[in-house]
Amino acid sequence: MQVFLSLLPPGEAWRRLEEHLECGPRRVEMVDLLDAHGRVLAEDVTSPADLPGFPRSTVDGFAVRARDTFGATESMPALLAVAGEVRIGDAPCFALRPGECARVATGAMLPQGADAVVMVEATMETGGNLVAVEKAVAPGENAIGPAEDVARGAVLLKKGARLRPQDIGALAAAGVSRVKVAAKPNVAIMSTGDELVEVAATPPPGKVRDTNLYSLCAAVLAAGGRPLAAGIVRDDYQELAAAMRERLASADMLVVSGGSSIGARDFTRDAIDSLGPPGVLVHGVAVKPGKPTIIAVAGGKPVFGLPGHPVSCLTVFRLFVEPAIARWMGTVPERRELVARLGANVPSAAGREDYVGVHVVTRDGEVWADPVFTKSSLISGLVASTGIIRIPADAEGLEKGARVTVSLLF
Ligand code: AMP
Ligand code: MG
Repeated sequence: MQVFLSLLPPGEAWRRLEEHLECGPRRVEMVDLLDAHGRVLAEDVTSPADLPGFPRSTVDGFAVRARDTFGATESMPALLAVAGEVRIGDAPCFALRPGECARVATGAMLPQGADAVVMVEATMETGGNLVAVEKAVAPGENAIGPAEDVARGAVLLKKGARLRPQDIGALAAAGVSRVKVAAKPNVAIMSTGDELVEVAATPPPGKVRDTNLYSLCAAVLAAGGRPLAAGIVRDDYQELAAAMRERLASADMLVVSGGSSIGARDFTRDAIDSLGPPGVLVHGVAVKPGKPTIIAVAGGKPVFGLPGHPVSCLTVFRLFVEPAIARWMGTVPERRELVARLGANVPSAAGREDYVGVHVVTRDGEVWADPVFTKSSLISGLVASTGIIRIPADAEGLEKGARVTVSLLF
């Protein structure tokens, strides 16, 4: 009978895989800025222009030479002559001489000689051509200088950055309309099990619908990859090996769920090992849920055998597949975390890492992570979870009230 040779700590299991995975991007492509959200930059982007390109007002008011306002108060205003008005979008065709000011709108260009702006609320029009400035401004006040936001040639965004709306905005402002990003890895997803039927079918007694194909395809999308659904394969070594070989040939990675343990009808390990060297690197990880996990590399491509249990399957995806997809693209997984207090005692055995779904709530002004306990962690438990917590291998459970870091789920 096959046995797990040893259960590796998850960190060690990842390191064994990482050694074989070149850091990406493994392929790149150019995309339009409108399609760039969530994509991973394949190179540093430097700003081709100064932002802003000219001195601008940040308020509606009067552009001034700051020293002309020094000492001005409501009772002793500085009287300045209005030299003109700068409309938004126009370049002023006059300069400020001492004792002069110019009416400006928010975002308008400052005339030459102006180095600050007085807000309209701090001025009083006197009729005629004079404005009473009732508050002194310092040089630079209510204005933004050329290149103060971003200087030409400065690194705007770094290689490996996952583009967020604000990043896209900065690229647009700098005039970068197309960006070089990591291609999305093609990740083939396969299910194996004699008990599995298609989602559209009504399972006869003893059979269940193929859950993992769908959850894994969604998880690949969320991780930034491109899922290739490869369907269900019977628990048969030959069929499984042939299907894996065919799918891996046209993909960058392969994820198979089910049959990853050491039972008489579990063929995933041997089928993966038939794909080529170096083959299986890890079989069995000291983690709950997720012990029967296989990590392999064949022809430079990562191959994963995930446990069939739908919750274990997604937990292990997060531990190894998501980081592998990120590394392929030249980045690391996006993780959102928050610190909360544990709402109940959580038992755990020493010697393995435990992952427990929690529901995050605010009670009495504090943030609590209530463990979601379900019978052998059913999928409904993950549905009810805001995030998951990790109980380290050396801890025997965590006590109610303990501070925990919650890793938020998708
Ligand atoms: P296995 O990993 O093949 O030993 O399967 C462990 C458990 O997960 C069994 O109860 C299987 O029926 C279930 N399972 C395996 N694959 C899937 C799947 N694709 N969708 C839903 N349940 C599955
Ligand atoms: Mg099975």
